[in-house]
Amino acid sequence: MKKFEVGVIGATGMVGQRFITLLADHPWFDLKVLAASERSAGKPYSEAVGAKWAMKTPIPENAANIVVKDAVKDMAEIAKSVDFVFCAVDMPSDEIITLEQGYAKLECPVVSNNKEHRLFPDVPMLIPECNAEHVAVIETQRKRLGTKRGFVAVKPNCSIQSYVPALHPLKEYGISAVLACNYQAISGAGKTFETWPEMVDNLIPFIKGEEQKSEIEPMKIWGELKDGVIVPAEKPVITTQCLRVPVSDGHTSAVFVKFDRKPSKEAMIKAWAEYKGEPQRLGLPSAPKQFLNYFEEDNRPQAKLDRNLENGMAVSIGRLREDVLFDYKFVCLSHNTLRGAAGGGVLAAELLAAKGYFDR
Ligand code: NAP
Repeated sequence: MKKFEVGVIGATGMVGQRFITLLADHPWFDLKVLAASERSAGKPYSEAVGAKWAMKTPIPENAANIVVKDAVKDMAEIAKSVDFVFCAVDMPSDEIITLEQGYAKLECPVVSNNKEHRLFPDVPMLIPECNAEHVAVIETQRKRLGTKRGFVAVKPNCSIQSYVPALHPLKEYGISAVLACNYQAISGAGKTFETWPEMVDNLIPFIKGEEQKSEIEPMKIWGELKDGVIVPAEKPVITTQCLRVPVSDGHTSAVFVKFDRKPSKEAMIKAWAEYKGEPQRLGLPSAPKQFLNYFEEDNRPQAKLDRNLENGMAVSIGRLREDVLFDYKFVCLSHNTLRGAAGGGVLAAELLAAKGYFDR
């Protein structure tokens, strides 16, 4: 199979660095272009990223010497030279919309980690194991943008990527209400303990805009395709609290759930153990073999022990028990910059590639 040539926009950022690490040795994707702001443009990647490199492994050889481009000024040249781009940038919202639609209109598909396009009804927002069928709306989007190839596909917010996967196989029991308290790692803010020392021995009970995203985005993931667009689900009612905690990587969620038809505990654990999505059926390279993993031990999942399960792409679940207000409560965990960001982006791109959306 011919490899697709790819670019990373926002390559010097926390998510961009993860993309570069994941693309160092990818069987389908070949890293060709790196782009960031004008501050980084014109410098070799290793110099542009400098001390901001936050990954545990060194900068991959295939990236270190690539001269970084300006994501805005060099857009036409970048769009022409790759098959698609990943995008994760920190820019004002209106500029992100212009940037992503700009690449799409230049016939360069965009797989984005940014929030700006998430609620467009003709933009698929993918957790590939849960809503792979939503890629079909790309045809409607291409008509709106006037493109043959170009489109934007997005990934949802990292905060929902443990409890939405965990609840997904339980939908057949009619999920009516969900309360999720999310304990979110500092890498979700693009930070490390070196760059955010105030987080050592601390907890901050506010993450701007996060609770709204955590409550709204699952409804789109569980939405139905109708007349070429995604119509959000109306159930369940979801309420969340999002707290920043002193953990480097890994978002943990304490979930309470109420059903129309209460399943047994055994049925829930069996549903998790047996669940397979489109990535597992297609054998996508980044797909975890076992997507949902239930731990019987009382003290699991733990961020430090379990976030890297299946290369950080699996979701860990534990402490399932009955609740006095809801039917059940449990705890779940996913790696926020792998499953929740760059890894989820790469898996979404693999799904799009497998379905022919990057073909010329
Ligand atoms: P970050 O570490 O602050 O990196 C931001 C990137 O944007 C850098 O590469 C920066 O380049 C680039 N940039 C800034 N201004 C630009 C401009 N005018 N033109 C082109 N590039 C520009 O941010 P991050 O944590 O990686 O997050 C990036 C995006 O992903 C955000 O939308 C965030 O909400 C989203 N996201 C993050 C996570 C996570 O876990 N961190 C999870 C899901 C989604 P320079 O170095 O040249 O300034």
